[in-house]
Amino acid sequence: MSNGPAIMWFRRDLRLGDHPALHEAVKLGGEAGVVGVFVLDDALLAPSGKPRAQFLAGCLDALNDSMDGHLVILKGDPTIVIPDLAQGLNAPAVVVSADFGPYGQRRDSGVEAILGLDRIAFERVGSSYAVDPGTVLSEKGAPLKVFTAFRRRWELLGPHIVLPVPEVSWVDFPSMATTSQIVEDAGRSRPARFEGLAHDATPGSFQPGEAAALDRLNEFAGAKALHYRAMRDMMAEPGTSGLSPYLRFGCIHPRTALNAVAGDDEGSVTFRSEIAWREFYADVLFHEPRSARETLQPSLRSLRWDSGPIAVEHFQAWARGETGIPLVDAGMRQLLAEGWMHNRTRMICASFLVKHLHIDWRWGARWFMDRLIDGDLASNSHGWQWTAGTGTDAAPFHRIFSPIAQAERFDVAGSYIRRYVTELASVEPPQLYQPGGGSGLLRPEAYPEAIVELKAEREEALARFAEARGKS
Ligand SMILES: Cc1cc2nc3c(=O)[nH]c(=O)nc-3n(C[C@H](O)[C@H](O)[C@H](O)COP(=O)(O)OP(=O)(O)OC[C@H]3O[C@@H](n4cnc5c(N)ncnc54)[C@H](O)[C@@H]3O)c2cc1C
Repeated sequence: MSNGPAIMWFRRDLRLGDHPALHEAVKLGGEAGVVGVFVLDDALLAPSGKPRAQFLAGCLDALNDSMDGHLVILKGDPTIVIPDLAQGLNAPAVVVSADFGPYGQRRDSGVEAILGLDRIAFERVGSSYAVDPGTVLSEKGAPLKVFTAFRRRWELLGPHIVLPVPEVSWVDFPSMATTSQIVEDAGRSRPARFEGLAHDATPGSFQPGEAAALDRLNEFAGAKALHYRAMRDMMAEPGTSGLSPYLRFGCIHPRTALNAVAGDDEGSVTFRSEIAWREFYADVLFHEPRSARETLQPSLRSLRWDSGPIAVEHFQAWARGETGIPLVDAGMRQLLAEGWMHNRTRMICASFLVKHLHIDWRWGARWFMDRLIDGDLASNSHGWQWTAGTGTDAAPFHRIFSPIAQAERFDVAGSYIRRYVTELASVEPPQLYQPGGGSGLLRPEAYPEAIVELKAEREEALARFAEARGKS
């Protein structure tokens, strides 16, 4: 008879509030209580960059504090350590928030099969999304490839009920590992082209954990949400919620955010639509797991990318924020300094790599995954494919962001550029947007000359686009 505690296996749900799986674990554990566990899994840590690993470690420490020190940390292959733990405890069930990513689904099926041999239940309750990937379908029952159609149907599935923190009787069990190992183990499988680039954990400006996530949400849900639509593209201003790292690790559930920002004003409506983008991309990944690594638009699969030593040199200049294009450099340096980048600058930096340097979007996506604390396979790969024009419902390839026009519009006073590109601290717009205007005049010596000529490379990108389209 399974009369032991239930196991709550935490993954991307590092919180106690609004947690349907935790409620289920409490129910199944009954008087025997609940063991809360997190597994340090090499398959996830090796490709993760150190900034995100450090944020994860902080979130686990915060979760452990809120569990009065009862979080159990194990290390190893989850298909071995979770069944071992469940057998050892005589647990009736292992409860999880469902994972819809390609690796997570494979891992969970493996764990479920092994637990099944001992008649231990594997319960998936809820997920990291307001609406589980795979739920929103067209009238004919097909996946939706266009965001607006997805969002219209997705909206009809709300409002969503937010659950309170349950009373949990946590059971003591010794940990086999510590959170300090996380940063050590992270980032061991870096590509050779990252040689010499930053490989550290970033202090960052995001306090980890559930309480910090709720503070951010409360701060945003008032006046900031009202002005969100007008301010969200102004990269120098704190006009967005800053919730992405917390949503990434489930320190907060999107349901909680949707409920807190529920108004009919245009700021709140736009914010909910951005949450819908996150859910849309998770849905696309669920239906098309290859979209994480493969160009989705068949006509662009033959697009010519640059490779070889000059491409690596250009890639490294971009990653270091030393391209000589101020807005691109400011975005890339924000990423290095904070482990986070403003959404509009992500688009501009991604567009520059793909369309001005002609480098494969996957190189850039991999670098973002190394440095972003909110790095998420679905949002990142599809954000890149959207900008590159290669994804489902993407911006057309021929829409090429001009980093100069974008700076004129969205960094009007130039304060974003000056904050990160300190060599340009005393340069004012309009020279700030393109120091020297290509001629080198008025460019402080410490700041690099532009590595490419924007107009010529734009023409080159369009020519390669026409070539790829001609071949398909
Ligand atoms: C090239 C590129 C790569 C990206 N990589 C990631 C990534 O790895 N992880 C990630 O969470 N987001 C990614 N994004 C999306 C977006 O840039 C971030 O979610 C956003 O900047 C986070 O800031 P915020 O929380 O203040 O957002 P807000 O503007 O406050 O939006 C609220 C939430 O909505 C979601 N959201 C907003 N915009 C998008 C979007 N375009 N796509 C998907 N979800 C969105 C996020 O969960 C965000 O926290 C990427 C975008 C691009 C263009």
